[in-house]
Amino acid sequence: MVGYRMTKTQFGQYLEHLKARYVLFAPVVLQGKGSFTDTDSLRYQEVSTLQEIEFKQKSHFSAREVLLPITQTLFYFTEDHWLEPKVEDKKILLFVRSCDIHAVKRLDEIYLRNGREDRYYKAMREKIHFCLMECSASFPNCFCVSMNTNHTTDYDWFIRPEDETVVIGAKHEDFAGYSGETVIVEPQFVTSNETQLAVPEQLPASIVTAGMWQEYSSRCIGCGRCSFVCPTCTCFSMQDIFYQDNANAGERRRVWASCMVDGFTDMAGGHAFRKSQADRMRFRVMHKFYDYKKRFGYHMCVGCGRCDDICPEYISTANCVNKINTYSKEAGQ
Ligand code: SF4
Ligand code: SF4
Repeated sequence: MVGYRMTKTQFGQYLEHLKARYVLFAPVVLQGKGSFTDTDSLRYQEVSTLQEIEFKQKSHFSAREVLLPITQTLFYFTEDHWLEPKVEDKKILLFVRSCDIHAVKRLDEIYLRNGREDRYYKAMREKIHFCLMECSASFPNCFCVSMNTNHTTDYDWFIRPEDETVVIGAKHEDFAGYSGETVIVEPQFVTSNETQLAVPEQLPASIVTAGMWQEYSSRCIGCGRCSFVCPTCTCFSMQDIFYQDNANAGERRRVWASCMVDGFTDMAGGHAFRKSQADRMRFRVMHKFYDYKKRFGYHMCVGCGRCDDICPEYISTANCVNKINTYSKEAGQ
């Protein structure tokens, strides 16, 4: 495709031009904001310069936090009125890697093609454009090649920062360069990962009660971090917040939830569908690698490996799937 090699000054001017029409979100390093002392957090934030964008590491959270905020106010209410928050008119430009673009397709299935459309998600989704961030080499725990998400054509332009220059490739005319040397470029994608998965096509019904799940009851602490960093998790809880200075006014919010956390399946009357961490792990893994596929025809997991990166108990979802595969083979499937 036609591309441009720009100096960093030229690229800065290019971003300024884009910022007139787009709000830019990209992974940035938040120094000292990690879960442990002296660790950083890599999260999606609004950016305005090339220097703010973190290209060398995989972000801890995915771009899901832009499309589907962790806490989102759906409407404000008083006794007899309600009002939805204003939606910003500007389009959004997301800097994302191939696996995360595939993840947005999964979010679209759940929020737009799974019965009634979610209009809050739709309003945000219609504004989104993708700038592909190349992965020239795999990061630890990534298994996108096994999930077939290492490659994509679903982006508007891509970016390749070099030592002194920046190369961009513009698929969409909106993102054509305005200065710089014209070049012919194609994005690079990883072709192998150290972590490989064998996902079984068929599962025996006995997998539900298999002994392999019990180890998760003793190891998993139910913190939910694996769900919160997952780019394809879609569950939330609802909260009505009443203001302290007027108990008849407030707002309704939806807040990310996790099937790994205590209380997620609690029902009125005290029943809970999945009380043990073994049951919760089985549900999460089967949802990502089996149930979703039955409905939509392909796996929900995109292989970003963030669940394995973040688990404080060193539980690996990738290993779990490989164990399911072994179990399935031994059961003659
Ligand atoms: S899973 Fe693949 S596409 Fe995603 S960050 Fe890792 S190497 Fe890049
Ligand atoms: S698998 Fe790990 S990250 Fe997920 S809930 Fe259990 S301890 Fe937390």
